[in-house]
Amino acid sequence: MKVCAVAPGRVNLIGEHTDYNEGFVMPAAIDYTVTAEAAARPERCITVYSEGFGEGESFSLDRLERDAGEVRWIDYIKGVCWTLEKGGYRLCGAHLSISSRVPVGAGLSSSAALEVAAAAALAALSGHALAPRELALLCWQAENEYVGVRCGVMDQFAVALSRSGSALLLDCRTLEHQHIPLPLDRCRLLIVDSRVPRSLAASEYNRRRAECEAAVEQLSGLLGRPLRSLRDVSSEEINRVEEMLPPPLGQRSRYVIEENERVAAAAAALRAGKLQEFGRLMFQSHAGLRDLYQVSCPELDLIVETAMGTPGVLGARMTGAGFGGCAIVLLEAEAAAEVEQRLGEAFARRGWRKPHFYLTSAADGLNVSREAR
Ligand code: ADP
Ligand code: MG
Repeated sequence: MKVCAVAPGRVNLIGEHTDYNEGFVMPAAIDYTVTAEAAARPERCITVYSEGFGEGESFSLDRLERDAGEVRWIDYIKGVCWTLEKGGYRLCGAHLSISSRVPVGAGLSSSAALEVAAAAALAALSGHALAPRELALLCWQAENEYVGVRCGVMDQFAVALSRSGSALLLDCRTLEHQHIPLPLDRCRLLIVDSRVPRSLAASEYNRRRAECEAAVEQLSGLLGRPLRSLRDVSSEEINRVEEMLPPPLGQRSRYVIEENERVAAAAAALRAGKLQEFGRLMFQSHAGLRDLYQVSCPELDLIVETAMGTPGVLGARMTGAGFGGCAIVLLEAEAAAEVEQRLGEAFARRGWRKPHFYLTSAADGLNVSREAR
């Protein structure tokens, strides 16, 4: 038997820096995918070939402990084998072949796509039928506990559970999710990779997390009730007490609380078929990330401003942790060429490298097919 698993990358449409505040996110899968093909082999050994990296590796399923030192790409595969086996899904030996069209390290989650595709192919080959939700959790655990990259659960959920023509509304506290119609018949998402190295991203990310925790503690006192996270505070409440928080905790809290409310408004807009309104909320989200949460950068701001002034654009915002990485533009399909042209020129005028562009619809999540041999 042979199994083929295809898993997409993802972008977050709205709900940024809300995941670690137990709030809401709304990602969608993109048209760029990782394919993992698995064929059985006799011993409990996995051989993997990554076409993109031009490298082969192998390991035994009976020796899955992590090698010391730098993270290597094979650790993502070993990691999912480790969590699958630990979760009671015994695997058989396999030849695994990986090919990918998801850009690596651009913030489009090539890592989650790789994990989910590999895990799904190996599990199916071994005769296990896992629900996509469970698969997502095992892959998330692999990236956090085995690879050692502390990432939110959004990536693996988006990759495993998305449906074409929909966004995935995910509650990061309860992990409840809903598919929200994203009718992109005449519209597209243009992903713009600023190609700015995210050198500040890790330290500033940790600082924002710490600021949010500090704000929760102070807000509990100010509001007179125990709070678990900023998720538990409304915008009326922050309006009342923001001034009493030391800077910058007031503006950080306001951003997170309003962003959570924007995700709810965005879901309502999509349900009502109001794409314009959805786009407006994207612009507002960007303004909050730039002015209140302060995680944008000049390149991402320029992408959003340039898009905003171009006919046929409905919305735009930075996406991901910030300080570089990607922005997304929601636009009418015919407007894409003009937006790309204007962005290319605007970057060239400042002497910046030309951004990379990826045009996409809202795609399907994981797909697994079996082939008898
Ligand atoms: P992102 O998920 O934003 O693309 P990450 O740094 O989280 O960036 O993950 C990138 C890593 O995932 C790569 O360095 C590599 O280890 C692994 N990876 C992604 N795609 C492939 C691939 N096609 N083959 C092998 N490893 C891959
Ligand atoms: Mg990743």
